[in-house]
Amino acid sequence: MGVIQITNPLTTQALYEITEPGAEEIASVYARACAAQERIGRLSVQQRAEHLHKLMHIVQMRQEQILDRIVAETGKSRMDGLSSEIFGVLDALEHFAKTAPQALADQNVHTPFVLMGKKSQVWYEPLGVVLVIAPWNYPFYQLLVPAISAFVCGNAVVAKPSELTPLRGLIEELLEAAGFPADALQLVYGGKATGQGLVEARPELVFFTGSVSTGKRIMATAAQNLTPVVLELGGKDPMIVFEDANLERTANGALWGAITNAGQSCTSVERLYVHKSIYPQFVEILAEKMRKLKPVTGVPAEPHADVGTMTAPFQIETVEKHLADAKTKGARILVGGARQGNSRYFPPTLVIDVNHEMHLMKDETFGPVLPVMAFDTETEVLGLANDSPYGLSASVWSADKERATRVARQLVVGNVSINNVMLTEGNPALPFGGVKDSGFGRYKGVWGLETFCRVKSVLIDGQGPKIEANWYPYTPNKYNAFSDLIAALFSPRKSLLDTILCGLKLEGLANKEKL
Ligand code: NAD
Repeated sequence: MGVIQITNPLTTQALYEITEPGAEEIASVYARACAAQERIGRLSVQQRAEHLHKLMHIVQMRQEQILDRIVAETGKSRMDGLSSEIFGVLDALEHFAKTAPQALADQNVHTPFVLMGKKSQVWYEPLGVVLVIAPWNYPFYQLLVPAISAFVCGNAVVAKPSELTPLRGLIEELLEAAGFPADALQLVYGGKATGQGLVEARPELVFFTGSVSTGKRIMATAAQNLTPVVLELGGKDPMIVFEDANLERTANGALWGAITNAGQSCTSVERLYVHKSIYPQFVEILAEKMRKLKPVTGVPAEPHADVGTMTAPFQIETVEKHLADAKTKGARILVGGARQGNSRYFPPTLVIDVNHEMHLMKDETFGPVLPVMAFDTETEVLGLANDSPYGLSASVWSADKERATRVARQLVVGNVSINNVMLTEGNPALPFGGVKDSGFGRYKGVWGLETFCRVKSVLIDGQGPKIEANWYPYTPNKYNAFSDLIAALFSPRKSLLDTILCGLKLEGLANKEKL
């Protein structure tokens, strides 16, 4: 069994170790989850929603203690943690507590005329045990939001945090304090092998957030058992700025979108396209503002620090490789560009003279780097924005809402903000997910709840002697009457009166020409 050391990225101090579980431990986690699911499934959605409410209160009351743990393991700035992890989780808990009872109630759907007298419904049932595998960039949010979504739908959850930021024991403490049902959400600590073992153990759904390469491996493993997967993968989000945008506000948006969480967000602004008529001025404003950002220093609870350290050493290497490649291909670095020694603090970096031959404009950089490129026409910038294997999110900035909407519709992405940045994620009523290499499936919103449900179709008829017109015996009379009904319903001469008459005739035949 492997032992993994957890380290504070800012101080590089060793925090604690986790030990990977063996196969037996994984099996017993699933056994407990199955037993718990039967109990959770019997609760009403309203009762489950009340658990979310209680958890919300606990998270809010323990906000600073939770932030201490998040900051220690990720290195992010406290304000980044507060606004994205704490606020994001609280907002999602409240949203689902409020909306799930109605969203998951039995739904009546339309029953067509030919099925008169019957009733059609959709029921939302739990899947069973859902496996959530989370990344290191938002260890609290990316684990809890899918987990609570799955729970409110009646599932038990097994969740594996990243081995870089496991927050060991934190979520269990919160669940216990909130009086969550036992084993409703169990955390399993470990790395790749543990993740692999958990997928092989046949959950009813794998909800994965992480890199494209791991997503492909998980999908291949899950395919062995036909286990469905939701894949929330990487991105290379473009931000498009037209000449009529408010330069001040837009530059502030670009800066935050690229640098928040040290650029380690799947929906970070990774490529900035600015109309050539405002490009020099816009770059100047960006450079001036970027130089003013304040780094974390390590003093505990520093709410004024803007930019945290990066979390993973290997991700810093990717940033450095992308910058080196861009420089050899002609890019110029206006701000930042290099870290001091082996520090995990990478300074906010502004790069110009970039093009699509560079890795910096094609591959996910996942660091505090903002490459800016000028464009001329709408067609040109659409081509550039869509020239990516990814399709997670994007933003379009213009005073002309019609133009912004037209461009937004042509972007091949799962989420788009107009005159704002990363904000589709700010509304838990909006479904979230990607297209192309950014993955598939959605969470959040009503659509996201369906992800965690077995959507059951139900047709309800009465009890009586009548049989259906299409049941045996098949007779020439029935065939002709059925043809007449089809013509009345679907031919260019379709008529309601003929449909009723044909329907009545068929019904009469069906109950006369019996077996
Ligand atoms: P990663 O793919 O390396 O790891 C993610 C998780 O998968 C970890 O818990 C890891 O232990 C586990 N894992 C690794 N190999 C596994 C295997 N073979 N089977 C099962 N589990 C396995 O990703 P990361 O580096 O932790 O996260 C960064 C990536 O996540 C970036 O690409 C980022 O864009 C993406 N991300 C996407 C979203 C989104 O919603 N689309 C959100 C956040 C992050």
